[in-house]
Amino acid sequence: MIQYGRQSINEDDVAAVAEVLRGDWLTTGPTVTAFEDALAQISGATRCVSVTSGTAALHVAYAAAGVGQGDEVVTTPMTFVATASSAVALGARITFVDVEDDTANIDPAAVEAVVTDDTKVIAGVDYAGHPIEVDALRPVADRVGALLLEDAAHSIGSTYRGRPVGSLADLTTFSFFPTKNMTSAEGGAVATLDADLGQRAHEFHFIGLVRDRDRMRYPDEGPWHQEVHEYGLNYRLPDVLAALGLSQLKRLELFKQRRAEVFARYQAGLADLEGVRLPVQREHVDPIWHLYPLRVLEGRRREVFDKLRANGVGAQVNYMPVYWHPMFEDLGYQRGMCPNAEEFYSQEISLPMHAELTDDQVDHVIDAVRVAVTG
Ligand SMILES: *Cc1c(COP(=O)(O)O)cnc(C)c1O
Repeated sequence: MIQYGRQSINEDDVAAVAEVLRGDWLTTGPTVTAFEDALAQISGATRCVSVTSGTAALHVAYAAAGVGQGDEVVTTPMTFVATASSAVALGARITFVDVEDDTANIDPAAVEAVVTDDTKVIAGVDYAGHPIEVDALRPVADRVGALLLEDAAHSIGSTYRGRPVGSLADLTTFSFFPTKNMTSAEGGAVATLDADLGQRAHEFHFIGLVRDRDRMRYPDEGPWHQEVHEYGLNYRLPDVLAALGLSQLKRLELFKQRRAEVFARYQAGLADLEGVRLPVQREHVDPIWHLYPLRVLEGRRREVFDKLRANGVGAQVNYMPVYWHPMFEDLGYQRGMCPNAEEFYSQEISLPMHAELTDDQVDHVIDAVRVAVTG
């Protein structure tokens, strides 16, 4: 089976992890600092906080944004459930808005239509690696005093109008799960350009501990003293995993290049096929392609999906609209709310997309799609 996504691990990665294992720091040490600095460097952020997953990154980002009981978060249903559920964990009320027909990214006009002064965060997702329209979302967020959050689990290394993902929104979250564009096994990060948001993110992922004597309520308690001012969790990424992330980061451009080649090969190989729609890339973005979302028309998605799996193609579907999950159904969300997202879901198949794919494998997938669709 050709997997839809997988990691690329080389001997440099293995050596980097082994070196940390032989050293003094297994967890929060110099490699975490180096990884966070390198992440900030490539994402154009001023501060990155590494955490244990993309889900943790979202939880931390919403907490840093001050999301609490009853606050509204406006987001897209075309994403992994964590984009919304991690805000629910803080007591947020989620408003789902529809996606654009071509990119399946959050529709700025739909956001504009629903935001109010109660909106605390507008959270977009760079679906498949294609950045959201930040320049259209920014004035909407500013008008109501909301923060812009970019779930960039798919898009570390993408750029929008020449600006790197990580420098676009108030808070950006990454995931380093093995199927993503680079990995630390489990892992994630929050990126920001705002020092205060960065510090709040750091403290939430570090149990809420305050170690700055100037901010302490009881500064004269003793040299051992640290205080908790606000609730936090332990979401710290260990040095062992930061070493893998740091080593992977060095090859991110190579991964991006190979993914672009695979994307182009699919586009060329499927261009003339009827009954499908191919993904689009807007002119002003340069995505790292995390997914290749093929759309199968005429209600034939399931049939084509089953044929692909039977033919050795480990296809996947990304995503069922978030509010179809029983958790959200039980909160009262009903089907039909976001027709573009629902139609997209009913058609979508993610073809294998990762940096280890050979041209022969990509050609096999193209043949399998052609046979499945025309047969
Ligand atoms: C993978 C993913 C997450 C969660 O990341 P984990 O590291 O798996 O917790 C969040 N949002 C999106 C869009 C994702 O694809």
